[in-house]
Order: sequence, then structure tokens, then C-alpha cells
Amino acid sequence: MMVNPFETYAGVYVHIPYCKKACHYCNFHFSTSLQSKNDMVLALLREIDITRGKNRRLITSVYFGGGTPSVLLRKELRSLMESIRKLFKILPDAEFTYEVNPDDMNEMTVPFWKQQGFNRLSIGIQSFRDEDLAWMNRSHTAKQALEGLELVRSAGFTNFSIDLIYGIPGLSDEAWKANIEKAIALDIPHISAYALTVEPKTALNTMISQGKKEPVDPEQQARQFLILMDMLEQAGYEHYEISNFAKPGFRSKHNSSYWQGIPYFGFGPGAHSYDGYTRYWNISNNARYIDSLNSNNIIPFDKEDLTETMQVNEYIMTSLRTMEGIDLAYLGGKWGSDKVEQLKKDSFKYASRGMVSYNNDHIILTREGKLYADGIASDLFFVSRDKENHAETQNK
Ligand code: SF4
Repeated sequence: MMVNPFETYAGVYVHIPYCKKACHYCNFHFSTSLQSKNDMVLALLREIDITRGKNRRLITSVYFGGGTPSVLLRKELRSLMESIRKLFKILPDAEFTYEVNPDDMNEMTVPFWKQQGFNRLSIGIQSFRDEDLAWMNRSHTAKQALEGLELVRSAGFTNFSIDLIYGIPGLSDEAWKANIEKAIALDIPHISAYALTVEPKTALNTMISQGKKEPVDPEQQARQFLILMDMLEQAGYEHYEISNFAKPGFRSKHNSSYWQGIPYFGFGPGAHSYDGYTRYWNISNNARYIDSLNSNNIIPFDKEDLTETMQVNEYIMTSLRTMEGIDLAYLGGKWGSDKVEQLKKDSFKYASRGMVSYNNDHIILTREGKLYADGIASDLFFVSRDKENHAETQNK
């Protein structure tokens, strides 16, 4: 059986579950009350300290996500970074990404993040139009986003990413093109672009069902995704994953490691970890997470051992979304040539409809296929014949 060459490596993810304002569409784990933030940092420090296995792997990337990590005070961020540097073996060229919102960016904060060792920022801009930002209940304005980008450059960051959202009701194709043109003109090295999705239990879902907001239009979303691909590819970006575009040399190492099946340690409430065989996820409740760690030194988490079928399906789902597609030699080496034959057979119908192509033993989505990436991937999934796997709760 082929060994995953990446298994000696790992990423580190730190979840900061606080936001100043709740965006209407968001279903991430966060709280808008920042009162427990100091206790949360203490709990995170404990979790990092007691996590097993951290010395066995070389860290290729560290990612602070949320929520909104940029709400951390200087001393809070400093203590977390010190602990991570002290307790993990971090490669000299590791990527350190900090997720920030434009309203937290100023002459003091941006250079401080650089000084703390972050070499990449991920900025939640979402749109360069105030009407879209107000519609989504974002905490910042378009002017703050533009000023933030200037600060990023003057602080010496060369590697940064912005998030953009399309398919927002009221965002015409022309307005979406203008947003993309703006990003191109600003020479942004990395762009993550997402279709606005209406998740259950979000404020947006409630408002739409009460008729207070217009529903999203799937045709508008598909059109705007095609516009996005065409414009960014023409401007020299690599479309290296369905939602991610990078200038050469600026792919996100951290996100790429998820798609390559590299293990990762996740810290904070709601954070997931993966060791190559088992997935762990912490409780999504700030008070219970803090209490369990600060009072009892116990990480409150559940886990699930991934069966072989789950592992191969996960590989299909993540790799099909990437530019390189499903690597059949890797899949055959790890899970058997019978799986490769089955996958080829199952994918023929998509090849005949022009939705996937075969290239050097890789199954790759075509431009048309990218519109249906997740549907095609789940249709290619193997049906489980493994024993029932089970979730249990215990200390990591
Ligand atoms: S800032 Fe990000 S995590 Fe916070 S509510 Fe908005 S989308 Fe969600």
C-alpha cells in the first residue's frame, strides 16, 4: 500500500469564535459578545499545550480563522503565537495566515500582525460596493477595504488574499464584473470567491422565508461564476480550486494541504483536526469549551474513525475540486486498482457530456463540469461496505 508522503507534515488551525457583527448569511461558529475572549485565549493555550502528537509532525502552515481573528488584542495574539512557536516544530518556510476584517485594519494593527510573523493575510472584503455590504450586514465599508489594502502593502505584505461573494440579489452581472475588475486592477495575488449560499438556521434564511429579502437566483450565480472564471483566467490567475484563484506562486499552502489530505491540528470551539485516519471536532460552544479546559484540563471533542470508503470519498470530493483533479495513480496505490477501474467506468457518462476530461491518469473537471463539481463528486462516491464506524467522546 502506498504511504501518503505528506503524513509527516501537518497544518495548524486556530479558531477565534468572535465577530463584531453577525453577517446575515453566516453559519460559522462565533459569538458577537466578546466578553469571554480573554478566558477563551487561556483555554486555547491549554488546548495547544495538552494536545498529543504535536511533536511528531513538521508544521507547514499555521492559519488563524474564525469568526474574526483580527478582534484579538495584541497581548492575546502574542501569547498564542508564542505558544505555537514554542510547542510545534515549524518549518522555516511555513505559511502563517491571519484572517482579518477591513474594520480592524489600521496603522497600528497591520504592521503588528507582520511583526508577529504572519506572512499572509486573508481579508474579508466580500464586495467593493457598500450596498452589497449593507445587504449582507457586514461590519465594514468599501472605503475601509480599499484603505486596508493600502496598509497591507505599506506594511510589506506581498502575499494576501481577499474574499469576494457573488450571486447576491441586487448584484447585477455588470456590477460583479466591476468588482472583479477592481480586484484585478489592485493586483491582488489571491482571490477566494464564493456563491452566496442560504444555509438553514441563518438570519438570511429566515428573512427570505418571511419575504423580507429576495431569494438567491441559481442562474445568476452560475452566470457570475462563469464571468469570474473567464475574467480571472484572462488576467493570469490559476483557477487552482473551485473557489480559489492565485497568481503564480501565491496558492494558499494551508488550504492546499487540506485538499492533499495532509493532517492538521485544529484548536478552539468547533475546530476540526485530522490525523490521516480519524477526524476530531471540538464542541461548538464557547462557554463549555472554556469551562472544560480551564476548570478540568479536558478537550471537549468527538471523533470519528474514517473507514476506507470514507477516506476515498473524501479524496474524490476534495481532489475533484482542484485544478489537478483526481490522481488515479495515487488513488490506486492507496486504495486499490479495482477502485480506479470503477471510478473510470462511473465517470464516463460525465466525460461523454463534456463535464470531465482525462489527462495523464487524472480525472479533471472541465469549465462546464465546474458548475456541478459537488454533484459530480458525490455521484462518483463509493458505497460503503465497511463496518459501521462510530463516534465517541474521549480525550485526544
Ligand atoms: S465576519 Fe465572517 S465569521 Fe463573522 S459573521 Fe461575518 S462571515 Fe461569519
